[in-house]
Amino acid sequence: SKKAVVIGAGIAGIAAAIRLAVKGYAVEIFEVNTSPGGKLAEINKDKFRFDAGPSLLTLPQYIDDLFELAGKKPADYFEYQQLDVICKYFYADGTKLTAYADREKFEQEITTHTTENRDALRNQAAKSATIYELTSPVFLERAFGGLKMLFTKAGLKTLLNLEKLDATRTMHEANQQMFKDERMVQFYDRYATYNGSNPYAAPGTLNVIPHLEQGMGAYFPNEGMYAIITGLVKLAGELGIKFNYNSPVDEILLDGKTAKGVKVLGNVINADIVISNMDVWFTYNTLLKNHPKLHPQKTLKQERSSSALVFYWGINKKFSQLDLHNIFFSADYKAEFDQIWKEKNIYHDPTVYINISSKLRPKDAPPGCENWFVMIIVPSNSGQNWDEPVKAARANILTKLSGLLNEDVSKLIISESILDPRDIETRTLSYQGSIYGNSSNSQFAAFMRHRNQSAQIKNLYFCGGSVHPGGGIPLCLLSAKIVSEAI
Ligand code: FAD
Repeated sequence: SKKAVVIGAGIAGIAAAIRLAVKGYAVEIFEVNTSPGGKLAEINKDKFRFDAGPSLLTLPQYIDDLFELAGKKPADYFEYQQLDVICKYFYADGTKLTAYADREKFEQEITTHTTENRDALRNQAAKSATIYELTSPVFLERAFGGLKMLFTKAGLKTLLNLEKLDATRTMHEANQQMFKDERMVQFYDRYATYNGSNPYAAPGTLNVIPHLEQGMGAYFPNEGMYAIITGLVKLAGELGIKFNYNSPVDEILLDGKTAKGVKVLGNVINADIVISNMDVWFTYNTLLKNHPKLHPQKTLKQERSSSALVFYWGINKKFSQLDLHNIFFSADYKAEFDQIWKEKNIYHDPTVYINISSKLRPKDAPPGCENWFVMIIVPSNSGQNWDEPVKAARANILTKLSGLLNEDVSKLIISESILDPRDIETRTLSYQGSIYGNSSNSQFAAFMRHRNQSAQIKNLYFCGGSVHPGGGIPLCLLSAKIVSEAI
C-alpha cells in the first residue's frame, strides 16, 4: 500500500493519519515530544490533573466522525456531556451573569441583570447563525478554492448575501450597534479571543463564533480534554498507525518539486505523501530551509494570533460561586486590547479566565481542593522580556481575584506550574507562541491562510491550526478532513 508520513502528533496530525489509514494508507507519525496531543496536553502534579491547553469543546461531532469513519462506536472511545451552564461572568462593576445554554433561561438572566432586551439577544443569535450558514460550507468545510469556490451553489449563496457577513466593520462596531448595554458588548466582543483576535480590529464576520458555542452547544469530555487524544490514539493504534515519539523531523526530502519523504534523526523515511502538522512557518523555515524559493513569503508574513499566559494552580479550597468556565472581565476592554496588540505587553488589569475541570471531574483535584487553570491573553512572542511582566501579571491576577472572590487566593495555592508564550513556542514549535496560527484581525485573513495542499510542492500537505481553515480543535479537525479529501 501507499505510505504517508505525518509530521507531528497534534490533534490535526492524528486526525489526518486516521483518515488516511481508513483509506488504506500505511501511516507513520513522527513526534518530537514524548507524548501525543501537541497543545492539547495534560499536566499531572501534586495530586492535581490539569488540561494544559484547550478547555472549551465545541462541535464534538467532528471527533465522533473519526470513530464512525473507522466503523467504531464513538462512545466506546470518548464520552462527553453538554453543559447547562456555559460560563459564569464577573464584571468589574460587580455584575454577575450566568450564561445558560437554555435560551429562555439565558434571556431571563440577561434581562434581569442588565438593561438589555430580549430582541437584541435574539437578533444577535439569528445573525450569528446566518453568518455560520453562509460561511461554513464555503470557507470552513472545504479546501480553499479561491474564486472557483464562489461558483458552487453554496458559494453563490454566500456571494449574494455578502453584506450579511458584516465584513466591512469591526466586530466591536457591530456589537455596539446590536446592544445598548456595554456589558453585553463586552460579552460578545470576547468571542474574538476564541481564535486569538482583537474585536476592535477583526471583521464583524467573527460574530459567527457565539453561534458555535451558544447555538450549537458547549461540551465537556467526561474524562477531561486530554481524553480526546487518548481516544483518538487508541483508535489510531487499532488502525495500525505507527507513532514514533522523541522523533524530530529535521527535513522534508524533495525530488525536484515533489516530496518523497522525511529525514528523522539522520534516517531517511520514504513516503508517497508527506503531511505537516507542524506550524507552517517552522515547516518552511526549518524543514524546507534549503529551498527558500519555494517559500510562500507573503503567507508566512501574516500577523500571528495572540498567545496566552497560564497559571495552573492547585487551590486548597472549593468555591461554590464558580463553575467549569469563569470569566473575570477587565474594567476597560479597549485599553486591554490596545495594550496587547499595539504595545505588545501584558495589561495590568487583564480579563482572567478560570477553568476548573474538577467541578465536573472531581478526581482532578484532592478532596476539598480545586484545579484552577488561570489564563490571560497576552501578545505573541516577539522577543519581549517576559520574566518581570509574568511576575507582575501573577500579582495583578491574584489581587483582582482575591477582591472579587472575597478571599486571599494567594494563600490557597498549594501547587503551581506556569506556561508563557516562550514555552508555547518551544514545546509545540508554534511560531511566536501564537495559539491559533494567524490572527483574524483583517477582513482578508480568511483568504490568507496557507492552503492544505502545497501549491509548489507535489505530495506535500498541511493540517493544523496554522493553516486553512484556522485554529481551535474543530477547525483543526476540518483541516485534516480537507487534506484527506484532497489526497
Ligand atoms: P499542535 O497542537 O500545534 O501540535 C503540533 C505537533 O507537532 C506538536 O506535538 C509538536 O511537538 C509536533 N512537531 C512540531 N514540529 C515537529 C517536528 N519537526 N518533528 C516532529 N514533531 C513536530 N482550542 C479550542 O478548540 N478550545 C480551547 O479552549 C482552546 N484553548 C487553548 C488554550 C491554550 C493555552 C492553547 C495553547 C491553545 C488553545 N486552543 C483551544 C487551541 C488548540 O489547542 C489548537 O488550535 C490545537 O490544539 C492545535 O492543534 P494542531 O493539530 O495544529 O497541532
